[in-house]
Amino acid sequence: MPQCKQCGAQNIDGIANCEYCGSPLAPPKPVFVEQNQMTQTVATFPEQKSRLVAALLQFFLPFGIGRFYLGYVGIGVCQLLTASIYIGLLWSWADGVYIISGNLKTDAQGRPLKD
Ligand SMILES: [Zn+2]
Repeated sequence: MPQCKQCGAQNIDGIANCEYCGSPLAPPKPVFVEQNQMTQTVATFPEQKSRLVAALLQFFLPFGIGRFYLGYVGIGVCQLLTASIYIGLLWSWADGVYIISGNLKTDAQGRPLKD
């Protein structure tokens, strides 16, 4: 028997609005669903990627490994494929400088990089 918060009347189960004053008996459910999804997303990916690790990977494994580490798979594949003709090597090293200088703010999921 849900009680109306507005007028205090007792209502029968299973109705959304008070029979007497019409005010909602319970908060809308979609709000809770969204909150739960956000909580789950945060809980599933709590770790931040390290800017230093990403840059070192680009310097010492110069074929896009730092980009793979950050989740930028598309750029990583491009650097990997072009590494055999040296473009990918130069690109990876330049990318390492770009990452370590702080110009790259987030990983592919939009999480801020750890300094
Ligand atoms: Zn009421």
